Amino acid sequence: MVRTVEAAETLMGRLRRGDDLLEELTALAKGHGVRLGRVAALGAVEHARIGYYDQAAREYRFVELDRELEILALVGNVSLRDGEPMIHAHITLGDDQGRAFGGHLAPGTRVFACEFTMDVFRGEDLVRSHDEPTGLPLWPETGGPG
Ligand code: ZN
Repeated sequence: MVRTVEAAETLMGRLRRGDDLLEELTALAKGHGVRLGRVAALGAVEHARIGYYDQAAREYRFVELDRELEILALVGNVSLRDGEPMIHAHITLGDDQGRAFGGHLAPGTRVFACEFTMDVFRGEDLVRSHDEPTGLPLWPETGGPG
């Protein structure tokens, strides 16, 4: 499955201190009718909750980092799950010693300051559905040369 999408517009803005990072980005996508897109952000958090997918157990394990951290990078995409825009994002966080932590961005990550960019794409909907080999909600698989 390879799609060609067209860049439509880009939203840029800042989140508020105390916002739930993933929930606010999701609300933003829903509020602007974004069905397909790309997200990037940087800034800092007061508390982080990141996931790691245990492939054998087929479930996420979550790590809580209850301290201030820089958002070194957040990269994500927007597609549809159960008919609603869903953001899948991974985040890299840095501490006061220059060490990095990272994982799958989960609800419960609290913003200190955050500047985001959301590229909105036009194209056929990308819909997530259960993928049996991985246990994850994924996009359709690539078939043949397409
Ligand atoms: Zn992930």
